[in-house]
Amino acid sequence: MARINDHYLKLSAGYLFPEIGRRVREFQQANPDADVIRLGIGDVVLPLPQAIRDAMHRAIDELGTDEGFRGYGPEQGYDFLREAIAAHEFGARGVEISPDEIFVSDGSKCDSGNIQEIFAASARVAIPDPVYPVYLDTNVMAGRSGPAGEDGRYAGIVYLPCTAENGFVPEPPSEPVDLVYLCSPNNPTGTAATRGELERWVAYARESGAVLLYDAAYEAFISDPELPHSIYEIPGASEVAIEFRSFSKKAGFTGVRCGFVVVPAGLRGRDADGGEVEIQALWDRRHSTKFNGASYPVQAGAAACYGEAGRAQLAANIDYYMQNARVIRDGMRDLGLTVHGGVDAPYAWIRTPDGIGSWDFFDRLLNQAHVVGTPGAGFGSCGEGYLRLSAFGRREQVEQAVERIRTRL
Ligand SMILES: *Cc1c(COP(=O)(O)O)cnc(C)c1O
Repeated sequence: MARINDHYLKLSAGYLFPEIGRRVREFQQANPDADVIRLGIGDVVLPLPQAIRDAMHRAIDELGTDEGFRGYGPEQGYDFLREAIAAHEFGARGVEISPDEIFVSDGSKCDSGNIQEIFAASARVAIPDPVYPVYLDTNVMAGRSGPAGEDGRYAGIVYLPCTAENGFVPEPPSEPVDLVYLCSPNNPTGTAATRGELERWVAYARESGAVLLYDAAYEAFISDPELPHSIYEIPGASEVAIEFRSFSKKAGFTGVRCGFVVVPAGLRGRDADGGEVEIQALWDRRHSTKFNGASYPVQAGAAACYGEAGRAQLAANIDYYMQNARVIRDGMRDLGLTVHGGVDAPYAWIRTPDGIGSWDFFDRLLNQAHVVGTPGAGFGSCGEGYLRLSAFGRREQVEQAVERIRTRL
C-alpha cells in the first residue's frame, strides 16, 4: 500500500461545519415543524446581478461562433480583466498595481491555501486566532506544524490572539516568523484593521523580513472611509505583502468562482544559499503549472463588476447585507449583548452572555430561537466565548431571527 501524507492525520477533521450540520439535523429530526433560520454559514443569498449575467450570456454566445470561440486562455487571466482590476481596485485608490502583478483564479480559498507552497517547508508561520481555517489547515497539511495539543493548537505554529483588548487586530509576534497571515476585514470577528495598524504590520515585515499574506476578501464591505481597502495603500507594502481578493462575497460569485492574488514585482525571498529570488516568478510558475485559467464567461462576468451598471448593482447588494448587519447589531445590543463587527464586514461577533461557552450559546440559540449561528471556538481558541452571526440572509429572515432571539432567549 502507498504511504500517505501523515500530516493530514494531524488535522482535527473539519470539525466546525460538519458538527454544526449534525446538531441542526438532530434538532430538525426532533422538531420537524420548526422553521430554522440559518445565519451560520458565510454564503451569499442574493441572485447574481443583471450586469454580470448579461456579460456572461454575451461571452457564452461569443464562444458559440467561429470568430468568437476561445480555448485555453492565459493562465494568469485575460488582459481585459487584469486591466480592469488594476484600474478599479487599485488605481482608483491611488495605488499603483500593474496588470501583470495580478493573477486571476477560480477563488481565493485556493489562492490563500496554495500560496504556502512557494515558501520553504521549514518556514515559520504566524496565524491569527480566531480566523478563517484555510491558512492553518493548509500549513498543517504541508508539514509546517507538529500535532495538535489538548487546546486544539498545533505545535510549531505561532498564534496571534485577536481579542476585544486589541480590537481583534493582532500584534506582531515577539518570536521570528517567515509568513504572517492577516485577514481584514476579518472573518469571523467582523472587524477591520486601521491604517495605523497596517502601517505597524508593514513596518514589522520590512524590519523582520517576514512576508505578509493579506486576505481582503471582504474589503468591499468597508463603510468607514478612513479604513484602507488594500494593504498596498500603506507605503512600502508592495515589497513585503501578497494580497488575496475574491468576487465571491462582493459580487455573489460563491458559486460562479473567481478571485485573484496580487504578487508585486518588488517582493523577494531568499533561496538556500541566501540569494534573493523574485517571489512573483515562483507564483507565476506555480499558477501556470497547476492552473489552466478561470473560464472566459466567468472572467467576462467579473469584468462586468467594474462597469457602470455592475458597480451600482454590486453596491446595492452590499448595502442590503450591511443593512442586515445593522439589524443584527442593533437587535443584539438592545438585548444587552456585547457586539463587535458588523460595520465594515458582514459578520457580527457576539460575546456570549454570562460567560457561557460558544457551543452552549449555539445550542441555546438553536433550541430556543431556532436560529443557527457559528460558535466562535470553531475558528480558534480565542474565539471561545463568542458567536458569529452572518448578515448574508434575506431581510425578513434576519428580522425574524432577531425577533425570536429577543423574545425566546
Ligand atoms: C469567503 C472567504 C474567502 C473567499 O473564498 P472564495 O474561494 O473566493 O469563494 C476568502 N477568505 C475569507 C476569509 C473568506 O471568508
